[in-house]
Amino acid sequence: SEYSREDILRIAESENVRFVRLQFTDILGTIKNVEIPASQLEKALDGEAMFDGSSIEGFVRLEESDMYLKPDLDTWVIFPWEHNGKRIARLICDVYDIDGNPFEGDPRSNLKRVVKEMEEMGYEGMNLGAEPEFFLFKLDRNGNPTTEPSDEGGYFDLAAMDDGEECRREISRTLEEMGFEVEMFHHENAPGQQEISFKYADAVTSSDNLQTFKLVAKTIARRYNLHATFMPKPLYGHPGSGMHYNVSLFRDGQNVFYDENDEFGLSKEMRHFMAGLLLHARGYTAVCNPLVNSYKRLQSGFEAPKYIAWSGRNRSPLLRIPSTRGAATRAEVRSLDPSANPYLATAAILKAGLEGVRNETELDTPVDENIYEMTKKQRDVENIEDLPTTLYTALKALKEDTVIQEALGKHIYKQFYDNKTLEWQMYSSQITEWELDEYLTQH
Ligand code: ADP
Ligand code: MG
Ligand code: MG
Ligand code: MG
Ligand code: MG
Repeated sequence: SEYSREDILRIAESENVRFVRLQFTDILGTIKNVEIPASQLEKALDGEAMFDGSSIEGFVRLEESDMYLKPDLDTWVIFPWEHNGKRIARLICDVYDIDGNPFEGDPRSNLKRVVKEMEEMGYEGMNLGAEPEFFLFKLDRNGNPTTEPSDEGGYFDLAAMDDGEECRREISRTLEEMGFEVEMFHHENAPGQQEISFKYADAVTSSDNLQTFKLVAKTIARRYNLHATFMPKPLYGHPGSGMHYNVSLFRDGQNVFYDENDEFGLSKEMRHFMAGLLLHARGYTAVCNPLVNSYKRLQSGFEAPKYIAWSGRNRSPLLRIPSTRGAATRAEVRSLDPSANPYLATAAILKAGLEGVRNETELDTPVDENIYEMTKKQRDVENIEDLPTTLYTALKALKEDTVIQEALGKHIYKQFYDNKTLEWQMYSSQITEWELDEYLTQH
């Protein structure tokens, strides 16, 4: 591993780190912190830091609330910004219960469990390259976020010299300072919308990186008097924010998705993996698109997928195979959005793919026409199913998919399902502006 316990203690001392944040992620994807003064770092590194799990939404019952935080030493980073002149570092932690077992309600530990299943199947890793999109909005005079975009620039618009662009550049620079390899960043299709993609890594590291990325984007945006949001669809009539997941499996340092003897350069394992991704697509949608608002993106067209199909060519289906081969051979899952808890989404995607490999599920033929231009009848002939259209139907599909339930584990599945069902009920009981405009005078 990159850092030893002693390295970290030495660096903390020499860099004058005053506080350390012990971070983990709750079931809904929110980053939680237990902050300790540097004097307690040694204890924390030995896994002796405790917190009250009952204070975390959906974590544990009161009577079993003592939890331990075990830091992953490789995640040691000193934040490249100061808080009131003091330097703060962070360590991402796994949550353990009082008996010293990984806590089953901890999304990161849960992902590690699914990764282990993959290793038992003989793979060394799933590489994951995520492409999170987000919006930068202006703050009002009181410092509250608005939905006024940071700019009015368009896709790859060189003329859009504005705060949004400076801000995006600063986010990238900060990420690099924290050890990210930023591959590219650009303005996306909607006003104020940005994408920053960074180099793929193994399943757990990539998920950690997504959490760090969100924290950095929000922190830096504030400095530019902007608000970074990962809400999937903040603007009516404009594209929403997606988070494509590029995935491949590796064994002995080789990408097993690539087969130089195949007509298309794609291995059997890849075809099975993709077949699993298609078969469980309805099941993992609630996990990968967890908000009521997620479905407003999926339903709106633009580049968001509505249908369960794959293509080597066009960008309308759920799965695309980018044209590069060799080590970069990968499947791109296009339905996810950045409001997903990355640990849960990654566990669900990995499990779905592995299930396809395990059962040698047959991959359907690709759909290279634009699915949006096909009639319902044509889609029926080709056997193209829809993704769930609301959080409600997505939860129903999750309830019918025991493979995705297993990907979450019992504890997380129950908490997630109950919590999201409540969210749907709360939303459904609202009387919206749209309804009043539409119905109040008409009826
Ligand atoms: P797009 O053309 O879809 O906009 P991007 O360049 O924005 O693609 O992002 C591609 C992502 O795929 C990056 O995160 C990159 O590191 C990742 N990637 C490249 N090769 C692999 C691979 N073999 N497995 C998984 N991800 C990969
Ligand atoms: Mg991209
Ligand atoms: Mg792109
Ligand atoms: Mg994009
Ligand atoms: Mg993409």
